[in-house]
Amino acid sequence: MEVFVDPDICISCGTCIDICPGVYDWDDSGKAHNQIEEVPPNLEDCAREGLENCPVDAIREA
Ligand code: SF4
Repeated sequence: MEVFVDPDICISCGTCIDICPGVYDWDDSGKAHNQIEEVPPNLEDCAREGLENCPVDAIREA
């Protein structure tokens, strides 16, 4: 799976980073971004949990 964070939608709440820091991190402008595009199998569950808990649906799965 791949995940993408839309910085125009992200409100910098930090939820996805708290849930799955191996996939999501802060970028230089204070928005979340995915530090890896292709999520390894062992991180898929937490990547998906971060996506599902984003309050503004800024993360999409590809
Ligand atoms: S959960 Fe959504 S709004 Fe919050 S930091 Fe992550 S992408 Fe941004």
